[in-house]
Amino acid sequence: MPEAVKSIWDQNAAPRHRIQWCPGCGDYAVLNALKAALTALELTPSEVLLVGGIGCSGQIRNYLNGNSFYGTHGGALAYALGAKMANPELHVVALAGDGDTLAIGIENFVHVCRRDPDLTLVIMDNGVYGLTKGQDSPSAGLGRPPGPSSEEHPPFIDPVKMGITCGATFVAQSFSGDPKHATQMYVEAVRHKGFAIVNDFSPCVTYNKFNTYDWFRAHCEVVPDGYNPADEDAAMALIRDFERREKLPLGIIYQKPREKTPAKRLPMWQPEIERIDLEPLLAGLR
Ligand code: SF4
Ligand code: MG
Repeated sequence: MPEAVKSIWDQNAAPRHRIQWCPGCGDYAVLNALKAALTALELTPSEVLLVGGIGCSGQIRNYLNGNSFYGTHGGALAYALGAKMANPELHVVALAGDGDTLAIGIENFVHVCRRDPDLTLVIMDNGVYGLTKGQDSPSAGLGRPPGPSSEEHPPFIDPVKMGITCGATFVAQSFSGDPKHATQMYVEAVRHKGFAIVNDFSPCVTYNKFNTYDWFRAHCEVVPDGYNPADEDAAMALIRDFERREKLPLGIIYQKPREKTPAKRLPMWQPEIERIDLEPLLAGLR
C-alpha cells in the first residue's frame, strides 16, 4: 500500500466541508471506493482533477483532498472535456448524479460518448433528484413492472445501454453495497484510454424507498466468469439476458481499445496568461 498516497486521499476536507449526506446514503461508499481506487493507482492530487455535477452526488468533490471544479447543472462532462483538452496529462474524473447526467446533461453525455476522450465518469445512480427532495430522475422506475408509460412517467433511461450505443469504449456497473468491487471498477475505468463510464447504484435512503440496498442485493449479479466484454454484440446480449431475468449486471460490461487518435493539447497562450495580474482576483477570494 503506498502509504504516502493513501494518507493524502484519506484526509477529508473537513471541517471546512462537513459531510452533509444523509446517514446511509450510497454516496459514502462511492467516496470510500474512489479514495481506495486513487490510492491503488498511486495518483497524487496534482495528477487528478475531480469535476462535480450538481446535486447530492456532486458534493463528493468537497470530501476529497484533491483539486476540483464545480460548474453548472448538467455541465460536468463539458468541463471535464475542456480540462482534459487543456491538460492531457491530467486524470480527469467527473462525478455526477443520474439527474445531472441523464436529464439536463444528456447532450454532453451523448456527445462525449461519441468523442470518446480519455475521461472517467462515475454516475451515482439513485433514480431521484435527492437534493431537491426526491422527484423522479430519468433513471426512475428501475425494476418496476413494465406497463403502459405516460407523459408524466416515461420509461427510464439505461445509461449502460446508452453509453455503449453512443460510442463509449468502457462501460461498467457497480453497487455501493459492494465498495470493493466498485473500487476495482474505478481503477479499471481510470486506466482505460478512452471514455470510461461506471454507473454506480448508489441508493438514496431518504427518497427512493423502492430501490433500497436490499432490493439491489437481490437484483445485482456479477457478470459471469469468462465473459468477453470486448464484443459489442455479446455486451448487448448480456444486457438483454439480465433484463429477461430481472437482474442487473455488475462488472465491466463493455470495453474495447480506443481507436481514435488523441486530441491535441490546446494552446495555452502562456505569454498572455503571464501578463495578467491575478492579485486583485485572488484577493477577492481570500
Ligand atoms: Fe443521499 Fe438521498 Fe440523502 Fe441526497 S437525499 S444525501 S442522495 S440519501
Ligand atoms: Mg440522483
